[in-house]
Amino acid sequence: MTGDVFNPEQLSRCISCGFCLPACPTYAMTGDEASSPRGRITLMRALQDGTLPPDDATLAEQSSFCLGCRACEPVCPAGVEYGDLLEQWRVHQWRGWRRPLVARALMLLVEQRWLLRLLGLVRRAARGQGVSGSAADEPGAQLMLGCVERGLFPAVSRAAQSLAPELAVPTAQGCCGALHAHNGDLAGGERLAERLGEDLPGTIVTTSGGCAAHLASVLGRDRVRELSTWIAGRPAGAELRVAGRRARVALQDSCHLRNGLSVFAEPRALLRQVADYVELPSAATCCGAAGTYSLLRAKDSRRILDAKLDEIEAAGVDLVVAVNPGCLRQLRTGLRRRRSAVRAVHLAELLTRVESP
Ligand code: SF4
Ligand code: SF4
Repeated sequence: MTGDVFNPEQLSRCISCGFCLPACPTYAMTGDEASSPRGRITLMRALQDGTLPPDDATLAEQSSFCLGCRACEPVCPAGVEYGDLLEQWRVHQWRGWRRPLVARALMLLVEQRWLLRLLGLVRRAARGQGVSGSAADEPGAQLMLGCVERGLFPAVSRAAQSLAPELAVPTAQGCCGALHAHNGDLAGGERLAERLGEDLPGTIVTTSGGCAAHLASVLGRDRVRELSTWIAGRPAGAELRVAGRRARVALQDSCHLRNGLSVFAEPRALLRQVADYVELPSAATCCGAAGTYSLLRAKDSRRILDAKLDEIEAAGVDLVVAVNPGCLRQLRTGLRRRRSAVRAVHLAELLTRVESP
């Protein structure tokens, strides 16, 4: 009997009603019960009570095939915290050498605080506003510089700083630990989040939906704000114009921001102020980025992305907007690959491009 992989109370909540099945992207792909949230919880219970051996192949496959998108949570009448259960599952499945090499390498990289600082400097991420490169004595609100953003999208941090100039931007800040938590190192994920909480002692404002959800789960909801909730209600510019007309824009939700923190109205409201907003039928469904998923399960990720891109192109939009750097990378890569006329941008970048009234 394995016994202590899962929190027993969390694992016992599922009543096997199946309401979550239509919300699950992997179940939609396969039609296989084992690839559904309910099926995976049945597998978790079999692991916990010893019915299945710890190294059973279906356990390994399904814990990895799950996107971790948490679309099964808001539709669950029993309040199953599936995201927590998946994190506990991966601690077991990806213990020791079983953790994929790519995930291990990335986790090691983002732990190097000197490297993140250097990346921020070399890539000219936002920095130093309001403080001299360190945390303010009086905790106020501070902009978090994500690891992915410092490397790939420093312009997003600069755009966020120009939209919310009151935010301090200490350069000495590490990783939030979401990567660790989602890849089988829950203790490491908590340790890094707590350290970042010390680096940024006031309210932490982030342009990454995934980081926001992880930080809120460790530091508390009141310490963390995703950018769209921070700037909601501020007067916007006149409008975003493309080819002499008002732009048509769509949004791709961040799964953890929407399903973990229930934030989805704020970015839409901001977009409606400056452009013609088009709601994609699958805006709330995962784009296949899912943290390391696009690297570890490239074929599955691409299949999910291709359906999403078909929908985006059919909608006739000029821009698709992301509120998470992983989604931005996924959408931008996919759209470029098919030489699409649609551009993927982060919400912060789009709002700074709006023409003044
Ligand atoms: S996870 Fe929730 S919605 Fe899905 S089967 Fe269990 S109780 Fe029902
Ligand atoms: S997290 Fe997403 S992929 Fe995994 S079971 Fe839930 S809905 Fe399905």
